[in-house]
Amino acid sequence: MTHPLLNLHNHTPFSDGAYTIDELCEAHLALRGVRVDGIGICDHLFCTPSSHPVSDEREFLRVFERETRRYIDEVHAARQRWAGRLTVYCGCEINWPLNRGMLPAIQRLMHGIDYVLFEFLDWAALTQLASQARRWPCPVGLAHADVRTAFPSTSLDQVVRTLANARIFYEINAKLMPLEQHAAWFDILPRHRVLVSLGTDTHDDLAVLGTLTTLRDFAQRHELGDKLFVPQPRAEAAA
Ligand SMILES: [Zn+2]
Ligand SMILES: [Zn+2]
Repeated sequence: MTHPLLNLHNHTPFSDGAYTIDELCEAHLALRGVRVDGIGICDHLFCTPSSHPVSDEREFLRVFERETRRYIDEVHAARQRWAGRLTVYCGCEINWPLNRGMLPAIQRLMHGIDYVLFEFLDWAALTQLASQARRWPCPVGLAHADVRTAFPSTSLDQVVRTLANARIFYEINAKLMPLEQHAAWFDILPRHRVLVSLGTDTHDDLAVLGTLTTLRDFAQRHELGDKLFVPQPRAEAAA
């Protein structure tokens, strides 16, 4: 059985991407020599300007609830439009340091979100996320983490066990290329039950989509081909 080929990390003008969902879908279908089965829209959500930190939950919901709803509706509408050609998943990328105090409020806004990628975690953050990851309303993963740099005082073995126990998936992101420089990590990763996702982190250059097959081939060579994370598209949220 072959796993579907999914690129789960693409930004749109909703956050800091240059291409619309439709443009991203077209670009993926136009890739030569490869059949992409689905793409994940993974815009940054909950980006509070640091000049105006939101400190309480009610204020946070007031600022972000409608915006999040609009994002989810937009992605779900695209899913309908592209049905039969390409599966459009609704992910999001969340800056951990910026939002770690608002996680209960954020969980309430996740209806209709298929997966979350967290970025900029240090070891304390990862252990905190691990303690609650299974209670999240959708799967959670680590975005573009260079584990040696992100967790310099923690052994690779401890990192991988933490991900496995908490069922946090690990993203093989184009930013980590050349992937061979993370040989020790990609040697240990397949020996544990950790799912991986592939992501090009598309912002303003569609040429990056060309690296998707490199990421996929690398995963297959490292016995991660059977461990590719496939999100479950979630139904529309109740109004
Ligand atoms: Zn990121
Ligand atoms: Zn990103």
